[in-house]
Amino acid sequence: MDSDPTLKSQMRGIAYPFFSIQKLAGMKKRHNPGLKPPGRSFLATRHFLSLAESGDPDCDPILRQVVPTQQEEVAGTAFVQDPLSEKKFSPLPRLVRRYEDRALILCTNKCFIHCRFCFRKRLWSQPPWTIGRREFAKIAEFIGRDHKIKEAILSGGDSLCLDDGWLLEMIGRLDSIGSLDVIRLATRALSAEPSRFSAGFVRRLRKRSGKLWLMSHFNHRAELSDLAKIAIGRLVDSGIPVLNQTVLLKGVNDDVGTLSSLFRALVAVKARPHYLFHVDPAEGNSGFVTGVDKALELVAGLRRRLSSICVPSFALDLPSGGGKIVLSPELRRASGEYCDYEGRTFRYF
Ligand code: SF4
Repeated sequence: MDSDPTLKSQMRGIAYPFFSIQKLAGMKKRHNPGLKPPGRSFLATRHFLSLAESGDPDCDPILRQVVPTQQEEVAGTAFVQDPLSEKKFSPLPRLVRRYEDRALILCTNKCFIHCRFCFRKRLWSQPPWTIGRREFAKIAEFIGRDHKIKEAILSGGDSLCLDDGWLLEMIGRLDSIGSLDVIRLATRALSAEPSRFSAGFVRRLRKRSGKLWLMSHFNHRAELSDLAKIAIGRLVDSGIPVLNQTVLLKGVNDDVGTLSSLFRALVAVKARPHYLFHVDPAEGNSGFVTGVDKALELVAGLRRRLSSICVPSFALDLPSGGGKIVLSPELRRASGEYCDYEGRTFRYF
């Protein structure tokens, strides 16, 4: 495990005490959920908090994503520490291999913000760490040996919390693996700290590898700030595709209007809505659950309103490592009858 002094200057997410959260977010009423540290730590950037409008963490879509609430203490048997059973699919420390053609590397446990609905909250209570050179070398060797692995995903935590030098070095090493087609950077930085994508940094990224894709994470239109749009423009103009993942969150984006507005705005800046995920049953997440039925209703509503390039696939991760499945509101009947989004039945072949 490396201790990385340069990371501190790069890492703009700050663990604020409650009195400063209230001040920074302009909260009007006193809010102290009384949650116990360290697992429930509050972490946010000034940029992310500046996107909040109402100052009320119960209904502001920005604050609701980062401000802890007592709801998180509501336990449920379905809500567990590692809902995707990642530990079971970890052939090496910091490596998750759930699918034959993909390898996910946990680069760090640091984030710009702590999203209250995160499925890797288990990492929050660990002391800060960044993947070390020896650990990464073993992972790169593993990926290079197995030619079935076509995509490497740099994740965490947030891969963009790494300092430029180390991140670019890792990307360069992965780029040299001939059997890899794609290197994905999974990050919340476009939403939480878009200034991370300076023109110089994006140029260096592109120079280091032509295999890069950026996986962004926007949940609400308010997150797509002018700075975020500039950063997406830089990535797209340099030939780095941007795919967005959204988590469906009760009280944040669980209506057709809010989701439509986000997906249209993303497409307008050439960030493709890729997945809409049902929230994972991680500890503390029960307050964000919409349920699958409601989610499918929303997807049907989106399809009625938006073109196909604006509508992401709706997916959920099955428990115990069952993996990701994509669900669609259409019904295919054994007899060759199909339902449209209005519920009318048609015959097809
Ligand atoms: S969702 Fe991503 S950015 Fe948010 S806390 Fe989890 S790992 Fe960090």
